[in-house]
Amino acid sequence: MIVKTEAIVLRTMKYRDSSKIATLFTREYGKLSVVAKGARDRTRRFGSSLDALNHVQAVIYKKDGRDLHLLSQCDVLNHFDDLSKDLDRLTAGMTILELVQAVARVEEESSAMFDIVREGLETLEHTRDPSAVVLHLELKLLDIMGFRPQLSSCSGCGASLKVADRGTIQGVLRLTPGGYFCTICDRKETESSLARFEVMSLLRDIQESTFQSLREVIISPSIREGAKRTLWFYLTSHIDGIKPLKSDKVVLAVAS
Ligand SMILES: [Zn+2]
Repeated sequence: MIVKTEAIVLRTMKYRDSSKIATLFTREYGKLSVVAKGARDRTRRFGSSLDALNHVQAVIYKKDGRDLHLLSQCDVLNHFDDLSKDLDRLTAGMTILELVQAVARVEEESSAMFDIVREGLETLEHTRDPSAVVLHLELKLLDIMGFRPQLSSCSGCGASLKVADRGTIQGVLRLTPGGYFCTICDRKETESSLARFEVMSLLRDIQESTFQSLREVIISPSIREGAKRTLWFYLTSHIDGIKPLKSDKVVLAVAS
């Protein structure tokens, strides 16, 4: 079956003398591995279209029951050139690719996830603080996978996250795999991550934002690290097999 689909190139590796194998995150079929014959010979049939991060239109000869499919055409829709000009943006872009590599399913319609990833990468090119985009994207992915964390109100009593929580005795709030608990409902026995009020309210604000509205946002470094750590706890609580992301040193430090 020949199919045409939009895709994001997640990774590419050499294959035999003249070919490449690419992992694509496609809109219609989720994650697919494809072989690009002749991609490394002198004619470089696919040019630079298989560079990681590219948003492409791919034509694939897809064989049922196979792990590897044949790429017959690949046209670039967006190179995301501005990402490679800035290390923080590039790192954020690679973090997104690794996350997609971990959560996307093979051969499963993924248009909702695909649109979030594409919009996230587009926003990264023009944003002031790449980490805000990554946090928003992580929260959106949790949302569409059915694991939206309850951040605007306590998972126990339903009270909204409010300024009064700022003055908690411990100075922290507890995030469990369902959402946050206020200090009154605090459940110390559950697996959880403690976060400062500022971190929890930042995550809530980012959850309620859009990519567009995050363009001008800058997160202070001390809150940023706490937010990454807290959300990483949440992601690993829900998603089996997710590993520390190589492109994110902070996450590696927390996991070790
Ligand atoms: Zn409560």
